[in-house]
Amino acid sequence: MKELDILFIHPATHYRSSDQGGRDLVTFLVMPIGTLALADLLDRNGYSTVVYHTGIEQIQDRSFKVEDIFRLYEPRVVGIDLHWFVHSYDAIRIAEIAKHNSNAHVVLGGFTASIYAEEILNRFGCVDTIIRGDAERPLLELMRHLENSELGEVPNLVYRERGVIKRGRREFIAGVDDLRGLDYANFDLLHNHERYCRLISQSGDLDPYPWRVSVKRHAWLPLGRGCSVDCSYCGGGRGAQRLITGRPEPIFHPKEQVLETLSRFMEYGIDSVYMDFDPYPDRRYYHELFEMIRREGIDVSTQFLLWSLSDRGFIREFSRTFNPLYSTLTISPETGSEEVRMRNKGFHFTNEELTRWLEHAMEEAVPVEAYFSTGLSSETPEAFEETIRLAERMVKRYPIASIACNPLVLEPGSPRHLRPEDFGLRIKFRDFLDYYERFRRLALGLPAESRLGYDTEWQSEHQIIDNSFRFNQRISSMQKGFQ
Ligand code: SF4
Repeated sequence: MKELDILFIHPATHYRSSDQGGRDLVTFLVMPIGTLALADLLDRNGYSTVVYHTGIEQIQDRSFKVEDIFRLYEPRVVGIDLHWFVHSYDAIRIAEIAKHNSNAHVVLGGFTASIYAEEILNRFGCVDTIIRGDAERPLLELMRHLENSELGEVPNLVYRERGVIKRGRREFIAGVDDLRGLDYANFDLLHNHERYCRLISQSGDLDPYPWRVSVKRHAWLPLGRGCSVDCSYCGGGRGAQRLITGRPEPIFHPKEQVLETLSRFMEYGIDSVYMDFDPYPDRRYYHELFEMIRREGIDVSTQFLLWSLSDRGFIREFSRTFNPLYSTLTISPETGSEEVRMRNKGFHFTNEELTRWLEHAMEEAVPVEAYFSTGLSSETPEAFEETIRLAERMVKRYPIASIACNPLVLEPGSPRHLRPEDFGLRIKFRDFLDYYERFRRLALGLPAESRLGYDTEWQSEHQIIDNSFRFNQRISSMQKGFQ
């Protein structure tokens, strides 16, 4: 057995499918983008490090068990990301396995762990500490202070001292200089990284070409942190970022670093990147970045997720910069009702502005992915009919590569979660235990008490789920009619 300073484990979400004869399946395969950068930072500071992704291991070898990792390694620390709430059950399940099979200190991090740090430490003895918000310097200091047990010296740390939950004294909020020093492309630290780059797009929600995934190698490009607005349903908006990380405004990675990351991705044979960081509608940063990518001659496809509508110049530059093979622009109108959009989205636009933008995308020959949701505040059954009508018009007239509608799940830290009465919600998911229980039942194949975590004043949870089925059926039968 090999001694290891820190073992990172990404907890893919497991579920037992009743449709597939009770088979165990894995989903939500994407790892938080910073996990590899954290592992690399520790590695460069002299700590031996390995990253395991439980979903990839299970896909590679159906008999894989998390316990197997502890037959190979004896880690001093186990780091588990609990960033998205969908990992609430599996992160704790893995923490329990780590405690049963090793003497390791178990530390959690990520948005969900940050929001619920005190509750998790109170309820689950298998978790020793939680890092709230940005984790780079805190994790390095945790490694140092574990020796002398001075956990109060570790910034952003929540920990137990003689049975009492405490918070560390100092705060760390990563600035541009901290980001500059990170390397997000050290894939060698990730066990089975070859499989990871091929598989994440297969299970990603935004892959418009599922038949091509066996050849496509995909990676998430780190561009910045934060957001400048608050969408009612989002747990990563400006207010949530302040609450979780203390960050008041978005920050970007230096463009030279992004270029360097892209070049490293090329060395690993990655041919498509996903860009999902677009907090300022002027997009000055991207105009300059795209020009630098062209100058360097980097040949890559890009799926760019627009957080607001762009002007035509941006679409043209996008099309000039990236290899068209897998390139798309993604826009999320969320709803066909302008009133509902205004109430819920931080970046508002009218249907007429959207139509003009789609005309430009068509003229520039850029395929579009479009995403809608249901369960929005003020969305009545009639308003949802407007959503279906808008989607039908889009599919008929424009180059839509992919279109879907998802029922919104209540995100921890979102304005709707923090102030449900302001948004007309009756919420069923409040505490960490509610999310844990939701995903525990999913993993065991038990019926869910609630899937979305709320009803609205205007629609029940059942109606909201039904809306998304109707939308997806109507649109897919229309698309089949075109083939
Ligand atoms: S634009 Fe809206 S959905 Fe996107 S990160 Fe910001 S708050 Fe969240």
